[in-house]
Amino acid sequence: MRQFQFAYIDQEQLRAELIKIKRWCTSSVYSHIVFQIMTETLDEELLDAVCLEIAQMLPEADFFGCSSNGNIIAGEFSEPDIGIVCTIFEYPTTKTEFFQYTLTAETMGDVMENVLKEIEKRPWVTAVDFVTTIRGMSMTAFCEGLQKARSDIQIFGGGAFSFDLYDNRACVFSKKAGISDNSVVFWLLGGEDFHVTSTYITGWKPLGKTFHVTMSDGNILYELDNMPAYEIYSKYLNIRNNEHFFYNSLEFPFFYQHNGIDILRAPTESNPDGSLVMTSDIEEDVTARLAYGDPWTILESVQTDGAIIKNFNPEVIQIFSCAARRTFWGNTEVSKESMPFQNIAPTSGFYTSSEFLRTNGYVNQHNVTMVVIGMREGDAVVRPKGDLEIDQSGFSGKVSLINRLASYINAAFDELEQSAITDGLTKLHNRAEIQKRINERLVSGQTLSLLMLDIDNFKQVNDTYGHQEGDNVLVGLANMLKDGIFENNRDADVGRWGGEEFMLLMPYDEDYSKLAATDIVRDFNSLRFPKAGKQTLSIGVTMARPDDTLDSLLVRVDEALYQAKHNGKNRFEVL
Ligand code: GH3
Ligand code: MG
Ligand code: MG
Repeated sequence: MRQFQFAYIDQEQLRAELIKIKRWCTSSVYSHIVFQIMTETLDEELLDAVCLEIAQMLPEADFFGCSSNGNIIAGEFSEPDIGIVCTIFEYPTTKTEFFQYTLTAETMGDVMENVLKEIEKRPWVTAVDFVTTIRGMSMTAFCEGLQKARSDIQIFGGGAFSFDLYDNRACVFSKKAGISDNSVVFWLLGGEDFHVTSTYITGWKPLGKTFHVTMSDGNILYELDNMPAYEIYSKYLNIRNNEHFFYNSLEFPFFYQHNGIDILRAPTESNPDGSLVMTSDIEEDVTARLAYGDPWTILESVQTDGAIIKNFNPEVIQIFSCAARRTFWGNTEVSKESMPFQNIAPTSGFYTSSEFLRTNGYVNQHNVTMVVIGMREGDAVVRPKGDLEIDQSGFSGKVSLINRLASYINAAFDELEQSAITDGLTKLHNRAEIQKRINERLVSGQTLSLLMLDIDNFKQVNDTYGHQEGDNVLVGLANMLKDGIFENNRDADVGRWGGEEFMLLMPYDEDYSKLAATDIVRDFNSLRFPKAGKQTLSIGVTMARPDDTLDSLLVRVDEALYQAKHNGKNRFEVL
């Protein structure tokens, strides 16, 4: 595999570059020539002229491309409008083929069906590389359609864009079907000697509080924690609902997990009703957090998540990077995150409206993410050059202030969140938390036994030995229960219900629960407190029943406890 990359200046320069390529081809063995054209300008006349020149000079070559928010040539953001990448495949076994379809919400179903058929017909396919127009369209069906392709096929692509973030126009084109403002171009690649690997890099990290997506529809995010989504940006980030909303909120996208993959979604607009228009669909009922980007974290992620590309020893590297990343870094700095790959192999790509990548079988639509693809023909050859060297100038390897502040916020937030659900004296879950957990288990319909514990004659302990000794007894019991969970009943949960009452929730059947209750009654009575000596407790035990509500369950366990007290204490009763 061999690549020629250059930025387009004018027709004369293009011709000169093409002659160079032609000359190389006449003296070499190759199987395919493919031109990728990435363009910030939507000037159709110019694009036609570029395509025509290629078609005339190298009639056997294929070409395709799309409009972009900026191009990466030789690992760097490239100033000129058009970037051209010519890949020459040298192995006779390598196969490539193109398909272009009109893609709208209406045609999407048919397009996916068609392309899947074409892929199925070609057992040689190893990778599906695509460029597509997407703006204003839900791509969920597109992703779900593509992921039906054979599970070993790598799938990746980029959404066409324009240089102006506020310009909704975009185009894709190919030798097959010309320029279109609503199409997808699929490039199928494969053959026994063609190899490909992929990774994705964010570097954005979740920050502080978690929000529950309580209402969303497609790419409209209505409510977080039952509040208009915009209020989150206004309250926590002080971002105003004005014409700068997109720019200001770009650096704080939503972070959530989908199919086990980290997904980022940035808001592009806020509506008068307080809902947000997101870059792509966001599911209802997921837990999301705001995420922050910071140069140091990003470069660290390039080194760690980029290692897979380096270890693959690719001959060429392709990048689909989000336009938001270019905006975040600025044109002069953005190459810091792509340039390290140029040390591994010739690197090209463009800034997208969305990045797509198949990971663990699923095809995900990403935003604010950098998808990196490594390709080679033949076995891996370790080349002399090749480390993901990071340009640390500007922050000289030091953890940035943003990074430290974010760590501080996260640590402080974890403490706050933890203390809000923890009982101060015993460090067990507090009543609200254990009640929440009991309810979650109950509605899940899984086996649930509940043990309510109450220390016997505890008032006397306080009255006789003082409140401090009373506290010792409470902490002693709490630690005993914690240890018991740690050692024997790992799936159990315990909380302080109030005063000298505790609630133990266990996912076990009645027989096991009785054994546990027997142990607890015995073990507590074998503890020795400094002043209070031996103490006893009583337990009510009950199993959740199919028709139980939280209330009926709690009433019954309380009743069981009452019976244990009534029958003489230092014992348990089951109801
Ligand atoms: P029974 O055997 O029927 O359960 O009698 P009891 O004395 O244990 O029950 P009662 O409800 O009469 O008394 C509970 C006592 O627990 C009263 C209260 O002062 C004490 N208590 C509640 N919370 C705390 C606490 O945090 N620390 C201490 N030391 N005592 C507490
Ligand atoms: Mg009590
Ligand atoms: Mg008591």
